[in-house]
Amino acid sequence: MLLEGKVVLISGAARGIGRASALVLAREGADVGVADILPEVEETARAVAALGRRAAWAVFDISNPAEVARGVGQIREQLGDIDVLVNNAGIVANIARLEKMTHEAWQREISVNLSGAFNMIKEVIGPMVRNKWGRIINISSGAATGGLHKQIGYAASKAGLLGLTKTVTLEHARDGITCNAILPGLIGTELVQMMPEEIRERAVASIPARRIGRTEEVGDLIAFLASDRAAYINGAEIRIDGGMGLNVGSLGSRREMKESTGDL
Ligand code: NAD
Repeated sequence: MLLEGKVVLISGAARGIGRASALVLAREGADVGVADILPEVEETARAVAALGRRAAWAVFDISNPAEVARGVGQIREQLGDIDVLVNNAGIVANIARLEKMTHEAWQREISVNLSGAFNMIKEVIGPMVRNKWGRIINISSGAATGGLHKQIGYAASKAGLLGLTKTVTLEHARDGITCNAILPGLIGTELVQMMPEEIRERAVASIPARRIGRTEEVGDLIAFLASDRAAYINGAEIRIDGGMGLNVGSLGSRREMKESTGDL
């Protein structure tokens, strides 16, 4: 097991990648604290406990620094110092072109996706420095480097996470702390499964691996980055996307896609 004796805190763990990853980390031996704005996160904690690990949950909004201090404090009281922080919670507040994107949607995406991670890191970094060991894993997105049509605030917030990640590394690598960013492509959460079939098929056709990723595959990458084995990986941007971030727009790739789907 990769994570025996470690205490993990993962945000956005009521469902999707966060929930699946919490269970992967528990199977690797970690005690797991789970946080979410949704009370359903309690069920994830119960599933962790059913695997024989210590579990704790807290319901709070990561964009609110006072709530973060309270919620992380609650988890720490039950599990002890946080060794591994996974900043997974994230939102798309609106889908619209720049002209129609509201200031409110822009600000909400920045404050949850980017400031939320900052707020969480500030709450856990002190004990990590004292213990001379820590892992911080930020779930960014392929949108961070490629942009995303009609999701300007989301893409900007995910790009901001890369700057945050690298600066934590610069400031804290000497303290035995690593901070890395994961850039998922299309991962098969409940929401992605609910996409209309035609849109899902078109998306799959643009992925060199010709399939959507599994939530547990992201969990496996988190588990490795959280372990002692990944001690020298720091400030990195790691894609998990079946090759989606590569040059799929080139003529050769487009022709090959057309042959495999017939209609693109
Ligand atoms: P999801 O919507 O299924 O889960 C996100 C969780 O975060 C939810 O449980 C939600 O309640 C929680 N959350 C939202 N706002 C919060 C807040 N203010 N405070 C606390 N919790 C909050 O999403 P997912 O697909 O599992 O995505 C997880 C992460 O992975 C996100 O950061 C997302 O941007 C990123 N990502 C996902 C994909 C994908 O294909 N699914 C691709 C790239 C990046």
